[in-house]
Amino acid sequence: MSSSLDQIKTDTALGNRILANEGVLDAFGHVSMRHPTNPNRYFLSRSRAPELVEPGDILEYDLDSNPVKKTDQRLYAERVIHGEIYKARPDVMAVVHHHAPAVMPFCISGVELQPVMHLGAVIGHKVPMWDQYDEFGDTNLLLVKPEEGASLARALGQAPLVLMKGHGATVVGGTIQELMFRAIYSCRNAEYQFAAQMLGKVVPLRPGEVEKSSQINAMPTATFRTWEYWSVRLEKSGGGLPRSGKKPVGTRAQRASVARTTSKKTKTKGRKR
Ligand code: MN
Repeated sequence: MSSSLDQIKTDTALGNRILANEGVLDAFGHVSMRHPTNPNRYFLSRSRAPELVEPGDILEYDLDSNPVKKTDQRLYAERVIHGEIYKARPDVMAVVHHHAPAVMPFCISGVELQPVMHLGAVIGHKVPMWDQYDEFGDTNLLLVKPEEGASLARALGQAPLVLMKGHGATVVGGTIQELMFRAIYSCRNAEYQFAAQMLGKVVPLRPGEVEKSSQINAMPTATFRTWEYWSVRLEKSGGGLPRSGKKPVGTRAQRASVARTTSKKTKTKGRKR
């Protein structure tokens, strides 16, 4: 595997861990990245809590969200969110789907999320809200069918994020760094809007202010400075990638050893999770 794909897998794992460390992801939610040279492929972890994801967990998918190589790993049920957005948005190179506490009150109440501070301008002028019920009636609210993912992608349109009624949000970025910036500051913006509402009238940014702030926020000086900051915070929290960095050296051997032991004891195949 080329070093650039190793880097993508490392960045995908880091992106998951950073957003978990910043309170955007918990046991659920997932970060993906598009393949750097084949736009018809993307990378996403096997089904695992984001803060535990390692580069070795990252699988390659086609845009119909089927794994490129046959696997017996458990997969995320909602991976069609990623595949269908990559189909609809050629500019998007990274996606996160989350249920962050910061945005949930807006997803529940239907109160409009508005850009209320300069960094929050990343949410754009108007944040679309998607309600699965509108097209699909009563569901368990998971997006598992390609048509559900495609419907969400239509609601997203050209926006940086879409809220999902009674569910969460999905955010997109042109780079993994931009995705982190948008995901984290859209949550901060939601917290500030909620808090400001407690104090009195919410006064959103003016359209011209959103425009100009967005230009500054998208500059590499902002996105790389924050990526470094959030990466160091992750390290300090002890939640960084395993020491080997790219591959869980030793861990795989330990896993195999555990699987062999389990297999002997239970007389079942050491089933991968
Ligand atoms: Mn979900």
